[in-house]
Amino acid sequence: MLARAAVRLQSAIAAAIAVVTAVLVLAVAPWWMVVLGPLVGLGYRAAALRPITRRERLALAPVPESWRLLLSKRVPFYGRLTPPAQKRFEGDVAVFLAEHRIYGPQGAVVPEEVKVMIGAGAAMLIHGRPDWEWPHVRDIVVHPTQWNEDGEPGDHHGIAGQVHLQGPVLFSRKQIRFGFRKPDGENVVLHELAHVLDMADGAADGAPDRFAWTAVPGWEELVRSRLKAVRRKNGGPLRAYAGTNSAELFAVAVEVFFEQPLRLRKQDPQLYEALATLFNLDPDTGTLRRPLPA
Ligand SMILES: [Zn+2]
Repeated sequence: MLARAAVRLQSAIAAAIAVVTAVLVLAVAPWWMVVLGPLVGLGYRAAALRPITRRERLALAPVPESWRLLLSKRVPFYGRLTPPAQKRFEGDVAVFLAEHRIYGPQGAVVPEEVKVMIGAGAAMLIHGRPDWEWPHVRDIVVHPTQWNEDGEPGDHHGIAGQVHLQGPVLFSRKQIRFGFRKPDGENVVLHELAHVLDMADGAADGAPDRFAWTAVPGWEELVRSRLKAVRRKNGGPLRAYAGTNSAELFAVAVEVFFEQPLRLRKQDPQLYEALATLFNLDPDTGTLRRPLPA
């Protein structure tokens, strides 16, 4: 898939480097030193492909049985996938967890179960879009409780997750568990990671342009009309918080799309179709809208 395309590209660049190096060597050194050309080319190829081969290794390695049990129990989306798609999902969780630092305040250890839930949210969002890249610079900080605008902890405060244009993604551990307890349309992991996708183009505007959003005709008009509807308390399955702005509308819609796809499809088929096009799947079955690129 994407990895194969990268292998082809890097192999072509490596061949070009090998030829150029060989020509340069021939001009200044004995003929037998031409062997340096292929060596330099191969060295370049190995270095360029190291992250990809690492990912492939991670994706192919079996995940712990405890992960599978947790995914089966807590992630209905995973349960609906075919065995090969489940395997790909597990690999996506493993790669996400390997490429992100996840820790608590003052570097406290986060329970593996919570990490797997975060990875599962990420794997859901990219399942139909394996070409999407998460920005690896973001650390993920898991707080034991919620907090307020001043950062004071306490479950009586209202903030369960937060992501800024730059900086780490913050979660409340309790709310992560709550989000995966039942598919009620609220899931802080899906919500905050939807913001991360949205912000990948540098703007929190509910339109993740970098991610082929332009392939969804009429998205901006759709957002405007749903914002008005939510503010008039007529937002269908979207909770009132979606009326905050277009970025929150997108993040809340993503939660409902993945957690209650049938409800969203029934109550707002236009929004459902837009999200199915963006994410390239129907979450009630895990079926892809378009096959993955070869
Ligand atoms: Zn939000």
